[in-house]
Amino acid sequence: MDTQILSGKVVSESVYKGLKSRIVKLKTNSITPCLAVVLIGDDAPSHVYVKNKTKKFASLNLNSETIMLTNETSENALLEIINNLNNDNKYHGILVQLPLPNHINNETIINAIDPKKDVDGFNPVNLGRLAAGRPSFIPCTPKGIMRVFEYYKIDLSNKHVVVVGRSNIVGRPISILTSLKRKYSNATTTICHSGTKNISYFTKQADIVILALGSPEYLKGDDIKEGATVIDVGINRVNSLSDIGYNLLGDCEFSSINGKASSITPVPGGIGPMTIAMLVENTVEAAENKIK
Ligand code: NDP
Repeated sequence: MDTQILSGKVVSESVYKGLKSRIVKLKTNSITPCLAVVLIGDDAPSHVYVKNKTKKFASLNLNSETIMLTNETSENALLEIINNLNNDNKYHGILVQLPLPNHINNETIINAIDPKKDVDGFNPVNLGRLAAGRPSFIPCTPKGIMRVFEYYKIDLSNKHVVVVGRSNIVGRPISILTSLKRKYSNATTTICHSGTKNISYFTKQADIVILALGSPEYLKGDDIKEGATVIDVGINRVNSLSDIGYNLLGDCEFSSINGKASSITPVPGGIGPMTIAMLVENTVEAAENKIK
């Protein structure tokens, strides 16, 4: 079987094209969407992610500011910074790059972000609204996955979706989105995690497998049925002799899935670019909310 590559690069370009007129409209109202990014510590992947995000904002003539903080920053100091960003009209969106140092409680920080500026969609207010099927900022990665389904006309209605991973960032929200009673959703969704016995029993039944566990090449060709769609969210750095010292691998083994699946998102170039595109879209939306 010829396996179709579901390109996040292609879909994200169509998203940016669609945003152009919205950005022009905002600018005619003297508003340039602006994202505040808080980056704490020296986690190398976090620095790369933030650089990619801010580069994209700059390329679209949107504003972003990165507030770099040391690993020693206290939780109270961080809360004060977030409070200032919440109250500063200049910023339409706030993103705190995860992971945070161990002495800072993720939940406390995420709860402190004004839900109206929570363009990552991690605040429980937004997650709760999402669960209830009400308008909200949807976390960027799951929102990006849904956009890939729409672009490639993969309708989930009457399909069995199996999600592996249940984080609040990817697995949990995508399990909700895929099962909402909506166009392109309406799936029967199963969510697997470290407490699931024999995960391949479920993935073998799936029409669509969504992998968000962070385990390199976890899913093999033998774990899926012929013709399934595989969405690979995983980004795993695996040491190698390459120039940069590592290779980026997804959560599925591309070589054995290719030829058996009907379609697959590659790593890199799959869901990664969609996450950034959805961050831009959410920030534009947050800016538009100011003039509604
Ligand atoms: P988390 O570590 O927060 O969550 C991983 C989830 O997978 C948990 O629910 C965990 O179960 C489950 N899990 C882990 N190992 C196994 C296993 N062997 N068997 C079954 N379940 C398992 O990760 P994230 O959700 O934040 O990210 C997942 C992956 O996606 C990572 O590789 C990350 O880098 C990538 N990612 C990519 C993005 C992109 O833009 N492409 C954006 C965000 C993340 P339990 O709950 O029981 O611990």
